[in-house]
Amino acid sequence: MLRNLPKNIAEFSKVEFKKFFDSFDYVLLDCDGVLWLHNNVIDGSNTVVNRLIELGKKIYFITNNSTKTRDELAEKAKTMNFNVGFDNMISTSYLAAHYLKSLNFNKKVYIVGSTGISRELDAVGIKHTGVGQDPMNGSLATLVKEQFKPDPEIGAVIVGFDEHISFPKMMKAATYLDKKETIFIATNTDERFPMPGFVIPGTGSIVRAIETCGERKAIVMGKPENWLCDIFFKEEMKKDRSRFLMVGDRLNTDILFGKKNKLQTLLVETGVHKIERVKEIIEELENSKEQDEELVNQIPDFYITKLGDLLNNLD
Ligand SMILES: [Mg+2]
Repeated sequence: MLRNLPKNIAEFSKVEFKKFFDSFDYVLLDCDGVLWLHNNVIDGSNTVVNRLIELGKKIYFITNNSTKTRDELAEKAKTMNFNVGFDNMISTSYLAAHYLKSLNFNKKVYIVGSTGISRELDAVGIKHTGVGQDPMNGSLATLVKEQFKPDPEIGAVIVGFDEHISFPKMMKAATYLDKKETIFIATNTDERFPMPGFVIPGTGSIVRAIETCGERKAIVMGKPENWLCDIFFKEEMKKDRSRFLMVGDRLNTDILFGKKNKLQTLLVETGVHKIERVKEIIEELENSKEQDEELVNQIPDFYITKLGDLLNNLD
């Protein structure tokens, strides 16, 4: 049996578009590749987001990036003329702080990461060890015997993007993780940080390193994992998950996250994946005997060339 291709919203009739538009209340938008590329707004995305807000939709920008606080993200969005505030922002550092709060965590956090994490912990009143440089200063023997005194108050380790990742940080994180009761959180597992001309190791590289020496798996906050739905939208999700529309440019994170959580999903072709990749996946599935759920869940319900094209239907 042939699988259906996602529906192209650009080809919707007025009636079809109205039905689609009325089928959701919440719009979860991935940022890079959907709203902007690096520091440049993607043509029309701000106008569409502002129009959706005017029309009563609840908008959330969700990003796997852990380096910015919600305030900083909102600032960035405002400079690109999105009419949003920090309430509309959900970052993985915010989720990590929110997650610990939901557990009534009252110990201290060891952070491998940046101010994005430390400031979100400050905002919910959770103590932490701070961020910044912690270079190797002398020999391993000195580090073990003189420099590092494990802090008995540490009850969690959070790992995010950290350009100051070092041997002492890995050793400290792993030492804290050796206690089974220490909570181990990773903001996300993206392998690389996009930057033309260079390969910048992403958070995932640091997480894997600490998982290896810690001999444990981290709880991952970012897409495609479910935490956003399980902690942030817990109450709303109990009602009707299909009232959420997840918009993204990556099939194996954004769309997979949406489908696993039974949200409606929309692929925009301004970032990583285009509809051709969806066609390849469908072909792959049809040629294989087994149903790879992970692949099935990467087929979006809808697609459109760019978010800005929705504007044609929103007037
Ligand atoms: Mg993206």
